[in-house]
Amino acid sequence: MRGARAHWWSWLAGLALWCAGAGVAAPATVAPLVLDAETSSIPLSPRIAYRHDAGAADGATEAFRRAEAGEFQPLPDGTPTFGFQDGAYWFYLPLVNRDAAEPRWLLVQEYALSDQVDLYLRYPDGRIEHASSGDHAPFNSRFIRYRYPNFRLDLPPGQRVEVLFRVQSESSMQVPLVLYTPKAFAELMRDAQFSTGLYYGIVLALLFYNFVLWVMLRDGGYFWYLLHTGAFGLVLFTLNGYGFEYFWPNWPWMADAAVPLSICLALIGMQQFSRSFLELRERWPAGNRVSLALIGFFVLLGIASFWLPYSTSTPLASRMVLLGVLWIIVATIVMLRRGYRPARLFLLAWSLFLAGTAAFTLLAFGIVPRNFWTLNGVQIGSALEMLLLSLALGSRYAGLRNENIRIVQETNEKLERSVVDRTRQLRTAMAQLGEANVQLREYSRRDPLTGVYNRRHFREALEQALAARQGSGGPLALLLLDLDHFKRINDTHGHLAGDDCLNHAARRIEEVAAPRGGVVARFGGEEFVVILPGLDAQEALQVAEAIRLRIHQLPVESGGKQIRLSASIGLHTVDGERGDAPEEIIRIADEALYRAKDDGRNCVRHSVSAA
Ligand code: GH3
Ligand code: MG
Ligand code: MG
Repeated sequence: MRGARAHWWSWLAGLALWCAGAGVAAPATVAPLVLDAETSSIPLSPRIAYRHDAGAADGATEAFRRAEAGEFQPLPDGTPTFGFQDGAYWFYLPLVNRDAAEPRWLLVQEYALSDQVDLYLRYPDGRIEHASSGDHAPFNSRFIRYRYPNFRLDLPPGQRVEVLFRVQSESSMQVPLVLYTPKAFAELMRDAQFSTGLYYGIVLALLFYNFVLWVMLRDGGYFWYLLHTGAFGLVLFTLNGYGFEYFWPNWPWMADAAVPLSICLALIGMQQFSRSFLELRERWPAGNRVSLALIGFFVLLGIASFWLPYSTSTPLASRMVLLGVLWIIVATIVMLRRGYRPARLFLLAWSLFLAGTAAFTLLAFGIVPRNFWTLNGVQIGSALEMLLLSLALGSRYAGLRNENIRIVQETNEKLERSVVDRTRQLRTAMAQLGEANVQLREYSRRDPLTGVYNRRHFREALEQALAARQGSGGPLALLLLDLDHFKRINDTHGHLAGDDCLNHAARRIEEVAAPRGGVVARFGGEEFVVILPGLDAQEALQVAEAIRLRIHQLPVESGGKQIRLSASIGLHTVDGERGDAPEEIIRIADEALYRAKDDGRNCVRHSVSAA
């Protein structure tokens, strides 16, 4: 994190430093640090003295002179962290190497972002050696190609060698110097590479894992998670010096540009991810507008960082990280209060990230001490955050899926219920329709006036009866009945009385024929026909005679009057092997009926052929 203009944090930090330093008397000389065979690595902060050269005006000779004159003082609280500062900082410490076996040492400045770093070594013979590093020099010019600036120290045993170290940078002034034997450094590297590998391994695994999920599930939330995590991984990669080491070792200008750019990208990613995760557009439109405004601002800041001086864009972007995360936490709390359950894990994740980032930021401004937790705050906080966010995404997805399953189940049950209802209604309607159909069929076969079958049904019934007797060979009789002088009855008593008479005759015929299995139909006008299956000539004659008698003996009561009726009946019986066509049978019966009429009416005549 860089910034040329001091922020109020650094003023506060400066004030604290000034107060702390005021009570300490500057030492006249700085005691040399003795390196013996026991020493393999040693932080210089507790022993080294420093001086702030605000105008960056001194050269090495002048600085050595000031150190001898006692103008340097110990680090405040032994902490080499000063916040964003103008000018140069000088550090001074004489060394005496008593370890004859180890004439070569390594000096490492364990902070990656310092722009310009210079080392001056003065030997007892007055010779001064100079080497420089920092991220404004090409990466390959470093002694060891390592993410932190480092220098080789030739310390001939027994000799007093004065170390003078100068740092000038737009980044935060952090100068933790550590001295290593080559063996100790190699061992340290082993552990450091392991923990760094672990962190980026987690980031990479999360990226791959969520990438696969995105490809499989096509849930936009995963894409924005990838952008957020990828961009944030890039920020840390840059801040820790790996970007300079691996991505752009020959472009020192990128070391500066990469910081605000990657921060802006990460800011856009985290806001967009949060918007989509919290479903702000649907659930909280006002909050959604704030998020969109922030995203717009970050896009502009990212574009502007190509032109703006780094000293302006970077501190602005880094401060926006805290603002961005604070806004996400506010939005998350609002969503929680509105009962959006996935927001719980989300809140925990961002709180951890905020805590880690806050620790690192306060360290950059020199407000908290440099230790494992503050130094790795962002890594620890962000690793936990990314893990929890991935979990939160998963649980949100599971929640959405469960909700979907519930809705589908509910809909299915509703559908099943309505299908059952509809089926029942349909069955009832079908049954009613069936009944109506049966009734309709019945009506279509009945004569509306007398209620006996009509001529159409008679034809079918006759054909069926003839077909049935073909198998059994039994007899079948047909009666054709015509009321006598019916025109006269109509003329005398009126048509309504005539209708009553037709009804009366129909009832009398049924009373006799039905018990014998006869089918009674109105043949037309005042004529009726009776099919008598299974009756031979003798039995049929009896039935015909019974009908004739009954019609003749029982008068019709109509309009308070009694009307006497009589009927002529022609009879034909089909017997034995003979199987005449229906028309033929009717014709023969009709002939018999004519004979009955000719013979004076009110009598039964049998067809000649059946005799
Ligand atoms: P016959 O003894 O020779 O059969 O003499 P008839 O008068 O019965 O014969 P005709 O064929 O001359 O007359 C039949 C009459 O039956 C004529 C018609 O007005 C009457 N008729 C036919 N259908 C109906 C009906 O549905 N209702 C009433 N009221 N009269 C009917
Ligand atoms: Mg007639
Ligand atoms: Mg008649």
